[in-house]
Amino acid sequence: MKTFAVLQLAGCAGCEVSLLNADEWMGGYRLAYMPLVISAHDVPEVDLLLVSGGVRNEEDLYNLRRAAPQAGKVVAIGTCAISGGVASLGDRDDVREVFLADRERHHVPHLLPKCRPIDAVVPVDQYLPGCPPTPELFMALLTEPPGFKTGAIVCVECRRKKLKDMRPSRFAGFQRGEVEPDICLINQGFLCIGSSTRGGCRAPCPRAGHPCVGCRGPSDSLIEKESAVWMSSIRRVISGLTDIPAAEIDHELRSPHLSLFLFQFSDYSSPGRTPRPKEKVM
Ligand code: SF4
Ligand code: SF4
Repeated sequence: MKTFAVLQLAGCAGCEVSLLNADEWMGGYRLAYMPLVISAHDVPEVDLLLVSGGVRNEEDLYNLRRAAPQAGKVVAIGTCAISGGVASLGDRDDVREVFLADRERHHVPHLLPKCRPIDAVVPVDQYLPGCPPTPELFMALLTEPPGFKTGAIVCVECRRKKLKDMRPSRFAGFQRGEVEPDICLINQGFLCIGSSTRGGCRAPCPRAGHPCVGCRGPSDSLIEKESAVWMSSIRRVISGLTDIPAAEIDHELRSPHLSLFLFQFSDYSSPGRTPRPKEKVM
């Protein structure tokens, strides 16, 4: 039986909870290490190492450098391991001022100057984006079912209808108001970026009436493109379905509620970043 381990760096444990909601891997794998549920001193040699969380402090760096070379294959799971995610909020100056002050910190690992994705430290064989990736995606990663296929973009899996004659002239705000069940959320004035986001999650957010905020990152067609390209792609979709002025669309695209995930769209193709070929991204 193959073995796998879950190394948790700086994150929220949401990826681990999602993995624990999947169980079809149990017949084919033995879970050898996962501090959330198994007591073990160290990461053993395993066939597959799933890494969640960003490299935020010296302990993360040490643990990742120790564990990755012993694994047959390394997979970065979730937004934090791939692009920094919630842990990278600590790069904000006000947060750093508190947590980097020596007088405030005793017996905790030193923060690194910046939160880093794991592929800045070790080679990564595969990426599983999402915040968190759904249980179904974890099962697909571990069991590789024949015929498993994901929609190219979230819109394909959402299946709400895009209408040409329902054109709001302003945004309705984020998750407010009544939502029509079968009509595209953009037609209803919500800022949904499912048209640029990679599928695979089965669109739980827009199907439930909440706009997609892009946690799965860029679709294959945008993954190697610069910020200007995916920004104009999102802008074009919204302009095609609404009469909202371009300046307002741009303003909303830069709003805080999108910033946690939208930044990762450019992260895939940043200069100086290890290339992330789409073939490696699930
Ligand atoms: S834009 Fe959003 S709501 Fe509209 S079809 Fe795409 S995912 Fe669904
Ligand atoms: S619908 Fe969008 S925000 Fe929701 S899980 Fe899928 S990619 Fe993430």
